[in-house]
Amino acid sequence: MKSQDIRKAYLDFFESKGHLIVPSAPIVLKDDPTLMFNNSGMAQFKEFFLGNGTPKSPRIADTQKCLRVSGKHNDLEDVGFDTYHHTMFEMLGNWSFGDYFKKEALAWAWEFLTEVLKLDKDRLYVSVFEGNPSENVPFDQDAFDIWKQYVSEDRIILGNKKDNFWEMGDQGPCGPCSEIHIDLRTDAERAAVSGRELVNADHPQVVEIWNNVFMEFNRKADGSLEKLPAQHVDTGMGFERLCMAMQSVTSNYDTDVFTPLIEKVEQITGKKYTNNEIKNISEEQNKTNIAIRVIVDHVRAVAFAIADGQLPSNTGAGYVIRRILRRAIRYGFTFLNTKEPFIYQLVEVLSNQMGAFFPEIVAQKNLVSNVIKEEEASFLRTLDQGLQLLENVVAETKGNEVSGEKAFELYDTFGFPKDLTALILKEKGMSFNEGEFEKSMQEQKNRSRAASEVSTEDWNVLVPGNVETFVGYDQTENEVKITRFRKV
Ligand code: ATP
Ligand code: MG
Ligand code: MG
Ligand code: MG
Repeated sequence: MKSQDIRKAYLDFFESKGHLIVPSAPIVLKDDPTLMFNNSGMAQFKEFFLGNGTPKSPRIADTQKCLRVSGKHNDLEDVGFDTYHHTMFEMLGNWSFGDYFKKEALAWAWEFLTEVLKLDKDRLYVSVFEGNPSENVPFDQDAFDIWKQYVSEDRIILGNKKDNFWEMGDQGPCGPCSEIHIDLRTDAERAAVSGRELVNADHPQVVEIWNNVFMEFNRKADGSLEKLPAQHVDTGMGFERLCMAMQSVTSNYDTDVFTPLIEKVEQITGKKYTNNEIKNISEEQNKTNIAIRVIVDHVRAVAFAIADGQLPSNTGAGYVIRRILRRAIRYGFTFLNTKEPFIYQLVEVLSNQMGAFFPEIVAQKNLVSNVIKEEEASFLRTLDQGLQLLENVVAETKGNEVSGEKAFELYDTFGFPKDLTALILKEKGMSFNEGEFEKSMQEQKNRSRAASEVSTEDWNVLVPGNVETFVGYDQTENEVKITRFRKV
C-alpha cells in the first residue's frame, strides 16, 4: 500500500465511525505563548479539553504536521542516527470530546490495524498504565480488561508514568494512555527473544506506533485527582512508522514517504544510500547514510515551516528553522561533498509527493525553494572557513573541551548555531565550554546595545550609522528590524 492510500484508509475508517475529518493545523503556532510548533495532534484542540469552546463535532480525525525539535519533545539529536524519529512527521489522530471512551477507541484502533490494514496480530503489543499509588493514580483496569478481549495477556505490558500517563501540566486534565507497539524483526529474531522484552527499550525494530490517551481526571492544585465531568479521547499514530510496518521495511526512510527524496539526493550528489536491509556497511557508507537521512528529514521540516509562514531568521521559531537547515547543509558539505546549494531542489519532489494532501506546499513551492536556496548560499559562504577555524582550534586544544569564546566566534562570525558546533565536536569526542560561550554572547549584546542606542526619555532611538539595515535575504545575519522601541 502506498503512503497516500494508508493516510486515506485511516481518515476513511474514522469517517465511517462518525468522525469529522479536518485539515492539519499549521506546523507553526502564532498565538500560543507556551508552544512554538505543533508537536502533537491535540495541540489545536487544547482549549476544548480545558473546557473553553466547543468543537465542530464531538468526533474529529485528521493528520497533523508535527515538529519535535524544541521544548518537552525534542527528538533532533536522534534524527538521522535512528530510523524512526523525525523532526517533522505526520501524526494521525482521532478524538472524542466527551463522546466515546476507552471501549470504542481501543476496539477501533485494533480493528483498523488488524482488519483494515491486516497487520499481523502476532507482531503487536499493547501497554496500559500500571498505576502509581503515591500520586493517587490508579492502575488502568478498564483498558486492561478491554485489551484482554483482543490479545493474550502476555501481549499486554504494564507501563509507568513516563510512557503511560499524560498530563497537560501540573494541574488540569490528565489520564492514562495505552500504546500499541509493533515488532518488525525477522521470525528467527522473534523466536529467540520475545518482543515483549523490547517494548519501549529503544529497539529500532520494536517501535511504538499509536498512543491512545484517555483524559478522565482533573488534577487539582493540591495534587489530588477528581473525575472529569466529561471524558475525552486523544490518539496519535506516527504515520511514517505505520507506512514502515505496512510496506514491510524496517526503516521509515525505506518507505515511499522518503525514497523519492533520497533518490533525488543520490542523483544530485552521485552518492548512494543503502537501505536498512543491507548490513555490514563501511564506516564511510554509514556516514553517507546518516547525512542523507538528515537531509531528507530536515528538508521536510524546513519546507513545511516556510510554507506555513515561518521564514528562517535569527530569533525564536525562525532561528529553530535556520538551525535545522544549517545542520542539513553541513551534513551535505562534510559527508556528501556538496559545495553548492542543492537542498532547495528537493522541494519540487516534496511538492509532487505531498501536494495532493497538503496543497500549501504546492502553493508556496517557489518561495520555499528560493528561501532555502538563499539560506544555503549564505551559509556555504562561511561554512568552509568556519570548519577550518574549528579544525585549528581542535588541534590546539589540550583535553576535550574547546574554549567557549571560539565557539562564540564561530556563531558570531561564521553563523554556526551553537548546537551545530556541539555536534561537530561530538563527532570528535569533544565539547565546548557553555559558560564561556554565554558570557561572550552577553558581552557582545552589551557592546552592541551601548553602541547603537541613545536615550531620549522613555524611547530608545538607534543611532544612525550604527544601525545595520536589512539589505536582502542573504544578509540577515545582522538584521535589525526594529528602529524604535520602548525602553523596558
Ligand atoms: P517515542 O517513544 O517513540 O519517542 P512518543 O511516546 O514520544 O514516541 P507520542 O508523544 O506518544 O510519542 O506520539 C504519538 C505517536 O507519534 C507515537 O506513537 C509515534 O508513532 C509517533 N512519533 C512520536 N515522535 C515521533 C517522531 N519524532 N518521529 C516520528 N514519529 C513520531
Ligand atoms: Mg518521544
Ligand atoms: Mg513513547
Ligand atoms: Mg507515546
